[in-house]
Amino acid sequence: MEFAVLGSGSSGNCAVVTYGETRILVDAGISAKQIQTRLQEVGIDPDSLTAILLTHEHGDHVQGLEVFLRKRKTPVYATVHTSHIVQQDRIKKAGQEIAWRKFQAGSSFEIGDLTIETFNVPHDAIDPVGFVFEAPNDGGRVGVLSDVGHVTRLIVERLQGLDSLFVESNYDDIMLQEDDRRPWSLKQRISNRHGHLSNKQTAELLKEVGTPSLRHVVLGHLSSDCNTADKAKESAREALAEMGLTDVEIACAERKNPTPMLAAVKGQSAPTLVARDPELDSEIAEAVATVEEQLKTTPAPAVAAIIAEAKNVPETAPPSVEKEERPVTIPPAAQPAADVPHFPGVGASMFAGPADSSPSVQTLEELAAAAISDKKSQAERAPRAKVQATTSADSESAVQMELSL
Ligand SMILES: [Zn+2]
Ligand SMILES: [Zn+2]
Repeated sequence: MEFAVLGSGSSGNCAVVTYGETRILVDAGISAKQIQTRLQEVGIDPDSLTAILLTHEHGDHVQGLEVFLRKRKTPVYATVHTSHIVQQDRIKKAGQEIAWRKFQAGSSFEIGDLTIETFNVPHDAIDPVGFVFEAPNDGGRVGVLSDVGHVTRLIVERLQGLDSLFVESNYDDIMLQEDDRRPWSLKQRISNRHGHLSNKQTAELLKEVGTPSLRHVVLGHLSSDCNTADKAKESAREALAEMGLTDVEIACAERKNPTPMLAAVKGQSAPTLVARDPELDSEIAEAVATVEEQLKTTPAPAVAAIIAEAKNVPETAPPSVEKEERPVTIPPAAQPAADVPHFPGVGASMFAGPADSSPSVQTLEELAAAAISDKKSQAERAPRAKVQATTSADSESAVQMELSL
């Protein structure tokens, strides 16, 4: 199993957990655009998500949901009460159909290859929950615990035997006390039993649930005014060290940048995050633009010649395409047919069909679209550059480099 925190803080929270083809977004509290962008940054196609899971209905956990789902039918898992509130307050107005999958807090269910255990947590929301994701075949156990006023016995029980944990570490006690910008009532709300976890409370929790299997602890929901990444990490590090757990990789999630994709289980490597080869991309873009341009400005017989070229069967080009029998809506030629370039990269497969079929104008448009799509899929398959370290030591330094605030 792998996971990444796409963003975390009082302005928005979103994480993703993956195992094989199962990709689950946990909360959608950043903008839809940012969800898309940051998923792509960690190597996940936003359209390939298996499900979205909600911890609770607060805006910093659901505000991107409605827009993200305008173009997608991704099922959304939430408790009965949470789904009701989100539907009423954030979806109903938009008149949108959401594929709700409602569950009772405390229940377990499967999504794809993952089993999800849910449990109640104390927080000032209608029905807030935490999650544990469990993968088969020693694929790992990952806990997600955010927005929790205090640690309960149930939370400690559920978070036993984890390989990785994403947990909030909201504020430093002293910084909160000394903060004169927050009114007393707000400070009370943050620190009361239905508010958020302090660094100290998170440290106590880690002492209760830390075992030698624990590989990553990602701390989240850090207050920008009443906490620092150093304080939060140090507090967690000390607690784990007290338990003899000195090899746990501790990082703080940022508000505006995703963590790298992290392999949850010790000894396993994160997937190699791949990036497009920019040189290849620009070649492809150029070739596609040329094809598009040619199709726009070339008369029908020349277009047919382009297609014949692309099919690599110029000598068997059907005589019918030389005739002007079909409706022509393509503008007059800007270049003679003789200048039509050969596009060796355009596969013949996309032009599959009887060799003597005379393409209609509509078909030409479809063919152009297919040419572009084929070019794009060639880019997907093309050799890619490694951009992420895969060893434990490297990923630790990468995490430290990228996540230190
Ligand atoms: Zn909340
Ligand atoms: Zn929150």
